[in-house]
Amino acid sequence: MLGPPYCKACAQPQASSALLGADGLCAACERRHPAWDQGRAAFVYDAAARDMILRLKYADQIDYAAFLAKHMVRAGQDVLVPGALVVPVPVHRWRLLSRRYNQAALLSRHIARMQGSEHGPDVLERLRATVRLARFSRGARRQEMQGVMRVRARWRGVLRGRTVVLVDDMLTTGATATACVQALREAGAQKIHLLVAGVVPERPGLDIDLQEMH
Ligand SMILES: [Zn+2]
Repeated sequence: MLGPPYCKACAQPQASSALLGADGLCAACERRHPAWDQGRAAFVYDAAARDMILRLKYADQIDYAAFLAKHMVRAGQDVLVPGALVVPVPVHRWRLLSRRYNQAALLSRHIARMQGSEHGPDVLERLRATVRLARFSRGARRQEMQGVMRVRARWRGVLRGRTVVLVDDMLTTGATATACVQALREAGAQKIHLLVAGVVPERPGLDIDLQEMH
């Protein structure tokens, strides 16, 4: 379970609150703020969370979605403001075929229901499948994600001035979420917060195979 101190933008846990600036940002986010406004994570993506999220992702254990969503609602309490629209990061329809459901949409549906928020499962559309991003450079990831996400036409007028809570299961490089945020901003969303089940700690040599994840 992820408790304070954590960075309000990248959601990374910090060894001490002394590492956070007055605005609650870590040094990296003060230098380069993520595309989204605030970021929250329910868990650090350690071995236990990994097991849980992988089960959600690749097995049919949909109960895990309810469990994770409950903790995400708690972690995201201050960004799940009244009137917020809850939107999942979309997967490409080819992935949907092989995996049968979008795990981010499962989470966002539970979160919206628990919170009494409006759910927009089809606000964003992924226009093409992308390659695995974790081992790419920042520039290469950005290029790969360019123009991948689009707001569906019927949502374009609806987003103006809204607060959107973008939901995903994992925050790794942030490239996918950034592409979503850009599309949402272009459609007029005012505040965009990111709420994830697990954030991968920024530690070199971490014993997690990121290639497995995206
Ligand atoms: Zn940060």
